[in-house]
Amino acid sequence: AKKRDGKNGAQLFDNAMLDRARRRAEIEANIEAGLVDNWFEAFLQPIVNLNGRGIAGFEALMRLNHPQKGLMPPAEIISVAEETAKIVRVGNVIMEKAIANLAKISRISGMQDSYLAINFSPLQFEPALPARLAAIVGRHGIRPERIVVEITEAVLMHDNPEIRMIVTELRRFGCRIALDDFGTGYSSLSYLNRFPVDIIKIDQSFTRAINDGDDDVRQKSRMLIEGITTLSHKMNCTVIAEGIETEEECRTLHQMGLDYGQGYLFHRPQHATALIEQLVGSQSAVARAS
Ligand code: C2E
Ligand code: MG
Ligand code: MG
Ligand code: MG
Repeated sequence: AKKRDGKNGAQLFDNAMLDRARRRAEIEANIEAGLVDNWFEAFLQPIVNLNGRGIAGFEALMRLNHPQKGLMPPAEIISVAEETAKIVRVGNVIMEKAIANLAKISRISGMQDSYLAINFSPLQFEPALPARLAAIVGRHGIRPERIVVEITEAVLMHDNPEIRMIVTELRRFGCRIALDDFGTGYSSLSYLNRFPVDIIKIDQSFTRAINDGDDDVRQKSRMLIEGITTLSHKMNCTVIAEGIETEEECRTLHQMGLDYGQGYLFHRPQHATALIEQLVGSQSAVARAS
């Protein structure tokens, strides 16, 4: 019996590996087709000032709009794109589309000071990045000060002098740097004194935890967020809470001193056209602009 179990186990393992390999190959093919046939879109999610809830900026979130399967969420696509290095081409498309969307929204809504945050993977920090970004913002008439470069600990963990130089160059150009998913990594605090960061985005797991049923978890989470916020402000960083879904979360975070928030309570990530309709409140404005 033992032998048979072992064999079955091995068989299952092989099948799972095969499924995984097939799935990855399929996603890779979708990425390639998406690049060639223009399936990638830059959805935008507004980021609001917790004091008054006005829109301060937008985060660009990549979507692959497959003609048969519809919108594919980014997590799986990004991990395959990173492993196959296609993330550089995907990222260039997203930069172009997101900045074009910002220009269009600003033109129609008159929000000329709103900013645009773009997510970057480690591989995207190649020497050509600053010039490429400069060319895109220049073409769309967007001031570089309106661009926020979102990086994660994964970018900093490389501790690669070349990446550091490129990030510094982007900052000299006028862009701000946001540290995304703060608090989920292993040593987030140790990066703050070694890397120029302007914005801290507190991960949505913290936003969930401040209302956790367990008193101890809830209180400690609140203390952690308050501590991070105080520390960030002392270092001249602004703080954004991610994933705000309820009024209670919003109220608590505002009371704790957070500056900005992002989440389904305010706005979902949307296609730029839908967002413009919502912001301007009329179909005709969208038609006029396109
Ligand atoms: P992220 O940068 O931390 O983005 C925030 C994620 O939270 C987004 O997931 C957003 O849709 C989701 N979200 C926003 N509000 C809420 C809320 O109230 N509740 C919940 N449950 N979720 C909320 P999304 O769009 O699936 O993106 C996942 C991740 O993929 C992003 O996390 C980012 O790390 C990465 N990503 C997205 N677009 C790009 C891109 O263009 N380039 C790169 N390199 N990475 C990207
Ligand atoms: Mg982000
Ligand atoms: Mg995040
Ligand atoms: Mg996240």
